[in-house]
Amino acid sequence: MNGFPFSAVVGMEELRLGLVLNAVSPAIGGVLVRGEKGTAKSTMVRALAAILPDVAVVAGCRFSCDPADPDPSCPDGPHEAEAPSVTRAARLVELPVGASEDRLFGALDIERALTEGVKAYEPGLLAAAHRGVLYVDEVNLLHDHLVDLLLDAAALGTSYVERDGVSVRHAARFLLVGTMNPEEGELRPQLLDRFGLTVEAAAPRDAGQRGEVVRRRLAYDADPAGFAAHWQQAESGLAARIVAAQALLPDVVLPDATLRQVASVCAAFDVDGLRADLVTARAAIAHAAWEGRGEVTAVDVRAAARLALPHRRRRQPFDAPQLDEEELDRALAGAGEDPDDPDPGDDGPGGGEPEASREAAQGRDAPEPRSEAVPDPGPDGQPQGPAAEGPARPRPGAAPAGPPAAPGPVFRVKRLEVPGTGAGAAGRRSRARTDSGHVTGAQRPRDRAARIHVPATFVAAAPYQVARGRAPAGGLLLRAGDLREARHEGRESNLVLFVVDASGSMAARARMGAVKGAVLSLLLDAYQRRDKVGMVTFRGSAAELALPPTFSVEAAAARLSALPTGGRTPLAAGLFRAGDLLRAERIRDPRRRPLLVLVTDGRATGGADPVASALRAAGLLAAAGVHSVVVDCESGPVRLGLAAGLAQSLGGVLLRLDELAAAPLAESVRAISGGFRGVAPPGKQEREVA
Ligand SMILES: [Zn+2]
Repeated sequence: MNGFPFSAVVGMEELRLGLVLNAVSPAIGGVLVRGEKGTAKSTMVRALAAILPDVAVVAGCRFSCDPADPDPSCPDGPHEAEAPSVTRAARLVELPVGASEDRLFGALDIERALTEGVKAYEPGLLAAAHRGVLYVDEVNLLHDHLVDLLLDAAALGTSYVERDGVSVRHAARFLLVGTMNPEEGELRPQLLDRFGLTVEAAAPRDAGQRGEVVRRRLAYDADPAGFAAHWQQAESGLAARIVAAQALLPDVVLPDATLRQVASVCAAFDVDGLRADLVTARAAIAHAAWEGRGEVTAVDVRAAARLALPHRRRRQPFDAPQLDEEELDRALAGAGEDPDDPDPGDDGPGGGEPEASREAAQGRDAPEPRSEAVPDPGPDGQPQGPAAEGPARPRPGAAPAGPPAAPGPVFRVKRLEVPGTGAGAAGRRSRARTDSGHVTGAQRPRDRAARIHVPATFVAAAPYQVARGRAPAGGLLLRAGDLREARHEGRESNLVLFVVDASGSMAARARMGAVKGAVLSLLLDAYQRRDKVGMVTFRGSAAELALPPTFSVEAAAARLSALPTGGRTPLAAGLFRAGDLLRAERIRDPRRRPLLVLVTDGRATGGADPVASALRAAGLLAAAGVHSVVVDCESGPVRLGLAAGLAQSLGGVLLRLDELAAAPLAESVRAISGGFRGVAPPGKQEREVA
């Protein structure tokens, strides 16, 4: 079996560097690879294990203990000092998107522990990845709870499982690599921050490079063994360089002046906390070792900052991580002008820069002083007027050329939820049976009990104690059939499908701005509640699927801001389009319950009897069990109240635009603008929105 060689991947220099730096110094904390589909990012990550040094392991240990330093808590241990060992290649373990917590951390068999008194533990993927690479493709689609646990384990270098008082702990140190396609939804900022480095992976735009990608792929597919042999020398060279860098790493010196550059770059980019400084320093040290240098220079700091800082900058929730290279050079150069700089010999402009800074500054013009060295961090608690850009303004470049109305202010909205109890993916919207959350009762386990409900188990066992011959002072005699598991109730996420009237009757500029602001507010709310979102718009002669269901609230916000308006109001077409989409989604993702949010003034025009058609379409949606909320946008002195009839046919809830806010509008705007800058911890958000 020959995989595609690491050295044979064309381009992707950032990813290559991010991976080897982590291979040299795993303390950097892993790599998150962002990029569209169809780049070779997975190929490159999968090829990494082949250039990592082999590992010696205790023979027969399922936890890959190092014979020189076995894990004292190893469940297969304790190992003899002279235990036989074997040497094997470093492993790359892939975590599938649908993996359970048991699969990741290993499964403790509580039934056997309680009924047989045996501590039975089946190792999970973290055990398999110890001293190797753990690869999580599409990490943004992994359950938040699992990503949290995974990043904790990666940070601690330990896998810990505890079930009902029985626990297992073992070492799990691995190079964590996650990939994600931002078009499918961002990772929560507080998770993003916990990956050491991020890199952007893009397919080469250059025709020559693209041709080379194809040429190599064809050659590999035709003869994998021959291809591997051709690249063997390059692969061995890389492997040897990693080993040499690992050996040099402990001796690399980080001079004070260079450390100050790290600090001033991190400060200039307005990053949260000190984790950025630490990761940048570690990556700079690894970079120096990789380059075979015994001392960290500005070149190393620059390379490290480009990978360590983009995802740690404070930014708007709908903005992608990025770093301006010129800004980086200015910050690096600026560090040399530190008034505390002990370096003598300041003789003229730039003369005070440490030598290394000058090196980094080569190839650029003298820095132009710009008043906005750091981009506007966003609203600082001041609500802006309805015509001003809201806090959730779209990314630069997403703005349309035409004159669509700018979104009005964004505010905190009421929780709209689907009635009843669902069973969908965890989130923060509607009530649901979940794996966590508060315990609402006990039940017989369907297969293996997940979380034991102890009182219910004892109650179930109690009537049989005499028949089972329990001694007067003896313990409770349990059988597998006595076990009861806890039933939990929490909140699920939903599919929030926006159906937005973009017709002429809505197009009065100020009004459309308010409507866009309201939908943006609902989008931000959906982001915080972990919902999937989609958008159907209708205007002129037809309805359009403006955004297929996605986790990318950013994409939805961009489409909304650029939404053209005008023309007739084919309301029925919009509702039929929504019905088609929900039917397809029910097949694709059956447990996710939809919430349809119809944004309309209730008017319908065009075709024969447009109002009756719309009411009929609404009735069909209601019959299909779709729960709806109608946001009534009618305004002005003469009101027809048409939206009320629609809400009735939909069997849904009717809210006026101004009733959407969780509190009076001014208060809601204030309340949320603080939370926008960052990244309130989930607990805090929960309290805010509860
Ligand atoms: Zn062991």
